[in-house]
Amino acid sequence: MSEFDYDLIVIGAGSGGTRTARISASYGAKTLVVEGDRAGGTCVLRGCVPKKLLVYASQFSEQVSDAEGFCWQINNFKSNWMDLIKKKNKELDRLHEIYVNLIKNSGCDLISGWGKIIGPNKVSIKKNDGEVLEFSSKKIMIAVGGESSFPDFAGNQFMINSDQALDLNKLPKSIAIYGSGYIAVEFAGIFNGFGVDTHLIFRANDALRGFDSDLRQSLMTSMKQKGITIHNNNTISEIEKIKESCKITLSSGQELSVDMVMGATGRVPKISGLGLKNVGVQLGQRGEILVNQLNQSNIKSIYAIGDVTDKITLTPVAIAEGHAFADREFGGINRFISYENVPSAVFSQPSIAVVGLNYEEAKKQNVNAREYKSEFRALKNTISGNLERTLMKLVVDQDTQKVVGAHMIGPDAAEIIQGVAIAIKAGALKSDFDSTIGIHPSAAEEFVTMRS
Ligand code: NDP
Repeated sequence: MSEFDYDLIVIGAGSGGTRTARISASYGAKTLVVEGDRAGGTCVLRGCVPKKLLVYASQFSEQVSDAEGFCWQINNFKSNWMDLIKKKNKELDRLHEIYVNLIKNSGCDLISGWGKIIGPNKVSIKKNDGEVLEFSSKKIMIAVGGESSFPDFAGNQFMINSDQALDLNKLPKSIAIYGSGYIAVEFAGIFNGFGVDTHLIFRANDALRGFDSDLRQSLMTSMKQKGITIHNNNTISEIEKIKESCKITLSSGQELSVDMVMGATGRVPKISGLGLKNVGVQLGQRGEILVNQLNQSNIKSIYAIGDVTDKITLTPVAIAEGHAFADREFGGINRFISYENVPSAVFSQPSIAVVGLNYEEAKKQNVNAREYKSEFRALKNTISGNLERTLMKLVVDQDTQKVVGAHMIGPDAAEIIQGVAIAIKAGALKSDFDSTIGIHPSAAEEFVTMRS
């Protein structure tokens, strides 16, 4: 008999926590999963999945305009937001059920309630009906993710966050979105696609800090062409609620009146109520759980993965971390994940996807970098009349001839870059790209025909 009730308690049944629990259980670990909300987590229920469904839905307005460019006659084209939200929620219910079944069918116990760590090997669970349970465990995995965070200014309580933006029971006529990261530009595209008068307010000159500067400028041009009003080099000083609308005062002194304001100014680790300070778990400046290469905190029995560690806050990274943890701790496989060349995509309109270093980053790392670039109007847009342009770039280390980065803005960027990421991960040289025959006519072929 073990001295503990469980081998592993996982707090949080999002993508990372669920993978950790399932794989650990498959190795024979007696595992309990604790989830206060619904199993599925941020990505499935409040992030990637519903967001992408709404991105698809919002793109039809532009596709109709493209179709008219191709001489289709389309009358009476309009959307029904409420029906769409119902359908989206039905799909999320289905995915939630799949997560519950995945957890239970892999042999784990699942308890609905909020977990709190009350000792290095002890977790209390406040169930949603008020009952409190306590269990001991050899190891505890924290996989609770993050939550949105707003800067402090008068009236910030009038901003909705992305969770709420995904579940509006009515579309506003106008919206201002604060921030210019992943979430801000993705939602700007969604609302704009549905015909909402959309304003994007942010403090930098171009959106998406950290991305390739040409891609950033290209996105700015496209967003403006599609009708989004950009208020760059600005912060919000105040929001006043006046009857049904919000009056925004910007740092430039300009005032703006909109139906709704959405804050997308970053996310922070969701650690409140977890009892981490009481057990002495070390946290970083943003509240992130500090972990070593084993995803282990300073308390040896307590581990953390995913957004709560604030390393690379992407779902596939959390899943990979959880799987590797289970392999190491319960499967006898000494495996670690690599944080290099992690591809990512922004589902802005047009979409962006990148892998590896951009030119500026390569130079900062003293790479003898050269960049290759191709910028064009996609074949489809010659007839559709759509002004959107595609930009693709490769960054090459001239000393080794290795391709160290690939960057794209344009349709299907995520689908294309995922394939390129394999080549870069495998250490492909520029000559390998050059000797690959292109698929014609496609945008992707530009990656194998870049000469300057
Ligand atoms: P980001 O970190 O991407 O962007 C935050 C934005 O808020 C930036 O524009 C930032 O400005 C601005 N900001 C931060 N603090 C302040 C402040 N005090 N005043 C004014 N502006 C401020 O956060 P998101 O919330 O968009 O997304 C969180 C994370 O979620 C992402 O980093 C990503 O890892 C993940 N995500 C991934 C997606 C995907 O893979 N497609 C989709 C959505 C989210 P500045 O740039 O000037 O610092």
